[in-house]
Amino acid sequence: MDCLFCKIVSGDIPAQKIYEDDQILAFNDISPQAPVHFLVIPKKHISTLNHLTADDKELAGHILLTAQHLAKESGCEAGFRVVMNCEEHGGQTVYHIHMHVLGKRQMTWPPG
Ligand code: 5GP
Ligand code: ZN
Repeated sequence: MDCLFCKIVSGDIPAQKIYEDDQILAFNDISPQAPVHFLVIPKKHISTLNHLTADDKELAGHILLTAQHLAKESGCEAGFRVVMNCEEHGGQTVYHIHMHVLGKRQMTWPPG
């Protein structure tokens, strides 16, 4: 399958990995939008949040709790932001679901 993040999972494309287990992988974003900016992805290919099913409940929870754990480890004591962009209006550019974790600067709201 021609998917950028599947290639990062398989090791065909290198990434700065910060966490890995049998289900998920976390790595630094190549174009960081904050001093801390990493992505947490499932190893299995799920193209968008719209393709997540009830069978993925545990996986989704694992991604969320790992995001929290890694944010803490990355020094985001003052808080952080998680973002999942979904399809066209969400601004998704890589069609393999990923949770952005951004921290170590003040975020603003609303988003652009
Ligand atoms: P999206 O716009 O789909 O929510 O986010 C995709 C993210 O993937 C972007 O923040 C982008 O910088 C990041 N990205 C795109 N290509 C690569 C890559 O080859 N390596 C890494 N580490 N991040 C990438
Ligand atoms: Zn994929």
